[in-house]
Amino acid sequence: MDRRSLFHTTAAMAAGAVAGCALPGQAQSGVRTPFEVATPTVPIQGSALRFPVRRIYCIGRNYAAHAREMGSDPTREPPFFFQKPSDAIQNVAPGAVADHPYPTLTKNYHYECELVAALGQGGRDIPVEQALACVYGYAIGLDMTRRDLQRGMGDQKKPWEIGKSFDQSAPIGPIHPVAALGGHPTRGAIWLKVNGQTRQEADLSQMIWSVAEQIAQLSRAFELMPGDLIYSGTPENVGPVVRGDVIEAHIDGLPHLGLRIV
Ligand code: MN
Repeated sequence: MDRRSLFHTTAAMAAGAVAGCALPGQAQSGVRTPFEVATPTVPIQGSALRFPVRRIYCIGRNYAAHAREMGSDPTREPPFFFQKPSDAIQNVAPGAVADHPYPTLTKNYHYECELVAALGQGGRDIPVEQALACVYGYAIGLDMTRRDLQRGMGDQKKPWEIGKSFDQSAPIGPIHPVAALGGHPTRGAIWLKVNGQTRQEADLSQMIWSVAEQIAQLSRAFELMPGDLIYSGTPENVGPVVRGDVIEAHIDGLPHLGLRIV
């Protein structure tokens, strides 16, 4: 068995374990470890199952006006990606206003409201026309950002991981299966309010690279797998929050996501 088919088999086994059996994937494979490491999961709307998170990919500057406000040219250059650790997930229940800790080290903490695509299938070199078949469902998410650290590292040509890839930097609502949404969202309002005031307001159709195109491009650089999440980029008017602020984020067809910065 080559490496690729081994990966696929492992993924299929893991998916089977989630779907049909209460045992965790590790226990089923017979691998023994000195301690447990939790697999982050996200609730699936209308289901008792939870979506296991493998990797979190984020696309940068995918709305033209946001690319401009970040100081770059929003022409259709290939999309660029970064990752957050899978345990950066903060689950937020629909209708709740979850406490979100103001992180360490920053004095300029920003929200970025984004549509999140959750993959139920993966692959390499996925054609655009087949890419949406990989999507299990969608959620609303926030790509929380320590902007001062991101910019500082960027200015020094160092990795900006510290600005993006920290604990609880990826709040997310429940995943809505594609069928429950009545299809793949390609248009619809996306907005974010802070303390009741609108800060971000755009339409999903304004993405420079569609979700299908993002999947196709990503799969040329990485083998995508079930469990991967893709934060598909934020519209313009990102901005700061401070302790005590309440964020309400919205994407048409999905429940609001609420956070209180503490
Ligand atoms: Mn983002």
